[in-house]
Amino acid sequence: MGVTRRTFIRTFTTGLALGATGALTGCAASMRGDFMPKAGKRVVVIGGGWGGATAAKYVRLGDPSIDVVMLEPNKQFISCPFSNLVLSGLRSLDSLTMGYDGLRKQGVKIVHAEAGAIEPDTKRVRVGEGYLQYDRLIVSPGIEFQWEQVEGLPAAKDRVLHAWKAGPQTVELAKQIQSMADGGVFVLTVPPIAYRCPPGPYERICQVAWYLKQNKPKSKVIVLDANQNIVSKTALFRAAWQAYPNIEYRPSSKIVKVDVGTREVATEIGDKVKYDVLNLIPPQRAGSIAVQSDLVGVDKRWCEVDHVTYESAKAKDVHVIGDSTIGLPVPKSGNIANAMGKISASAVVALLNGRPAPQMPPGNTCYSWVSDREAIAVVNSYRIASGKVVQIEQKLTPAQAVSVAQNAVGWAQSIWADVLS
Ligand SMILES: Cc1cc2nc3c(=O)[nH]c(=O)nc-3n(C[C@H](O)[C@H](O)[C@H](O)COP(=O)(O)OP(=O)(O)OC[C@H]3O[C@@H](n4cnc5c(N)ncnc54)[C@H](O)[C@@H]3O)c2cc1C
Repeated sequence: MGVTRRTFIRTFTTGLALGATGALTGCAASMRGDFMPKAGKRVVVIGGGWGGATAAKYVRLGDPSIDVVMLEPNKQFISCPFSNLVLSGLRSLDSLTMGYDGLRKQGVKIVHAEAGAIEPDTKRVRVGEGYLQYDRLIVSPGIEFQWEQVEGLPAAKDRVLHAWKAGPQTVELAKQIQSMADGGVFVLTVPPIAYRCPPGPYERICQVAWYLKQNKPKSKVIVLDANQNIVSKTALFRAAWQAYPNIEYRPSSKIVKVDVGTREVATEIGDKVKYDVLNLIPPQRAGSIAVQSDLVGVDKRWCEVDHVTYESAKAKDVHVIGDSTIGLPVPKSGNIANAMGKISASAVVALLNGRPAPQMPPGNTCYSWVSDREAIAVVNSYRIASGKVVQIEQKLTPAQAVSVAQNAVGWAQSIWADVLS
């Protein structure tokens, strides 16, 4: 746990979308100095997504005497899981959009603002022109895109859709698919591992191919995958794609250039592909706050953590969870972020009360929709051995089935409730 003495005075916060709740009311002007002075023990959580919202709730459940402040710029939670179904018209984004009132009822104080910087030495999080003091900090900022890895992308990032953070881009991509002419070409690019939700791009391919097969039978989906093969549920996706002759899958085809003028992308191996609709999922790294606050490892991409407490390998009393982490044999999934939220909360509650952190492994179930009514799934189970998370087994469903899709709906409803209410 080497803590180097450093002060992060540079704030890179843009626009305080303030609407603070709980104990804090006011406007951006009120966020100066120590704008919520700490009385007793306090946990600050950065990010109100799958990991952060869960952690905030479970710290409160574990010890209601702990003050929990969660920083999250968005007023609503939008679920990435099930968002591929918005592209095929099977779901609305509204059905995946939820509020934070449940967390407020648990006593979590929510500040709708972006954390600007982390100062481990003084145990402060910079917010706008002010700061929040913490005893322990839980950081779950998700992912950020490495725009610079694709030539032409930084200048065109507002026009080239990723739809890899569910929200307005998801709706816009659905509209573009719907208005594409019959005979049009939809190009989807898969980034190199590690990236958020390994099976997510392949589920998306199924959903778009299903929609085009029903509505635009002369159209096709060209998949440019940076990886050598489908990286998750490989045989099950291959079997599902038998129903979609409109998919053209090209492995080892890392995208290196996009030209929005000629509507063309280029791959590392020299292929040039024209598109009518483009869904470019860029390479990824940990959320910006983790990178800029020096929580990432030598790869400058992801954060290494203790496998029991999720304490950062770089900063004391700072815990990192969710997609921003690396080193555990787990996928970057909402299910894992939710598990890490609970485990880190238990660890933080124990440590703040002078007890050792309990040794709890995460678990993962991940569903993928392969048509309008069938899904496939994988279950991973883990244990802790010598302080490290190790996988016990991985089980796949034998084939795609309607019953698996029904289980997926049950999974989503129960985990959304677990994260947010
Ligand atoms: C298309 C798609 C389908 C998916 N399907 C599934 C699935 O079926 N099952 C599954 O388990 N997972 C799925 N996932 C993956 C899942 O969405 C992610 O693994 C999960 O969201 C990770 O949680 P997180 O807390 O790390 O990040 P997020 O949920 O992204 O939360 C991060 C939050 O931090 C906030 N934030 C960032 N920086 C700051 C800052 N400086 N200050 C304050 N707040 C900040 C962001 O606004 C965001 O709300 C899917 C993902 C995609 C894209």
